[in-house]
Amino acid sequence: MCALTAGKRGRRVALLEHNARVGLKIAISGGGRCNFTNLLATPENYISGNPRFCTSALARFTPQDFIALVEKHGIPFHEKKLGQLFCDFSSRQIIGMLLAECAIAEVDVRCGCRVETVKKRERFSLGTNQGVLECDSLVIATGGLSFAKLGASDFGYRIAQQFGLKLTATRPGLVPLTLSDEERAVFAPLSGVSLPVMARADGASFAESMLITHRGLSGPAILQISSYWREGGSATLDLLPQRPGAEWLLEHRGSKGTAQDLLEREWPARFAAAWCARHAPQKYLQQTRTADLEQLARLIHRWPVRPDGTEGYPKAEVTVGGVETGELSSKTMEARRVPGLYFIGEVVDVTGWLGGYNFQWAWASGHAAGEVA
Ligand SMILES: Cc1cc2nc3c(=O)[nH]c(=O)nc-3n(C[C@H](O)[C@H](O)[C@H](O)COP(=O)(O)OP(=O)(O)OC[C@H]3O[C@@H](n4cnc5c(N)ncnc54)[C@H](O)[C@@H]3O)c2cc1C
Repeated sequence: MCALTAGKRGRRVALLEHNARVGLKIAISGGGRCNFTNLLATPENYISGNPRFCTSALARFTPQDFIALVEKHGIPFHEKKLGQLFCDFSSRQIIGMLLAECAIAEVDVRCGCRVETVKKRERFSLGTNQGVLECDSLVIATGGLSFAKLGASDFGYRIAQQFGLKLTATRPGLVPLTLSDEERAVFAPLSGVSLPVMARADGASFAESMLITHRGLSGPAILQISSYWREGGSATLDLLPQRPGAEWLLEHRGSKGTAQDLLEREWPARFAAAWCARHAPQKYLQQTRTADLEQLARLIHRWPVRPDGTEGYPKAEVTVGGVETGELSSKTMEARRVPGLYFIGEVVDVTGWLGGYNFQWAWASGHAAGEVA
């Protein structure tokens, strides 16, 4: 996006990619259909040391701008849910579209070109496995640490440090959470069970589905809070967000069934059995004290889980943290202290929610830099 924007301004642009092809993350994204933007994208959907940093770039290149490009290329797409736009057929169409626009802008796309060193004298001098290249403007778009098998590297962070720019601590985001051995023993047999929850961590909450895995918890609700969760922290799950409070349970006070019987109507039966065996009174509701029913409702709505970690960068969709936003101009993404050096996309300390927000940040920040670099 940055290369084609700069190329259209008449700049001579080389795009250097060490993989054999560009856009491998685009290719596998969204299950091969690329969730390329989100209609509802606003700065509130991003995590950053400075939550306002992304405002200008997002306002100047909106989801509608990207959609216009997708429509220009006749790529069919649809909204899946919650403003999330996916290709009808293949994410490769998005890569094809970007490459076609780069061709129009006469961008020199060089694959198999690994940038190894960067020096700055009058101009930037790049040492690559294909020889030395010189440029006036250097845009770093090397992404984060997640999914290293697709080419992710710490190169961008190293270049930032080399030029004296601060980094915020990085951690895996949009990643499954793992449970302690004790909790895993209870839930591993439920692997594959999914239910709607409201997940909360560090002040953020997401109403989506949760999936139990053989190592812990996943599914959209968990992936979303994983970006907020920190090592040693806890999370709470409302296991019945569609029935808030305790009234719904108290209405069954006179029932000859158990809590499990009742919850089996709301949850997958296997989950109800395992959860109730640990947490619910093992007697008929009519024999259960009101205070105990209220306590049960509280536990259902604020069930604490204490993850013991995450599945880490190999399974994380994004890297939270990165080049500190205070080091960059929010208008242009240029390093304040190093004229001509720009950072865009995931390498910057701006991390989107699940749902097309990360690509929208990549497009918007790339466009912002491409207008001036
Ligand atoms: C499995 C998965 C699914 C995802 N699905 C979605 C989705 O549906 N929607 C969404 O919004 N986001 C999704 N994301 C996140 C999204 O892919 C990233 O946030 C986005 O690709 C970041 O763009 P970027 O250009 O900053 O970095 P990247 O896309 O990671 O691109 C960086 C490029 O730099 C190259 N590179 C690195 N170091 C060097 C070097 N030294 N020399 C030359 N080249 C180098 C890499 O090979 C890579 O191609 C997904 C991520 C994953 C892992």
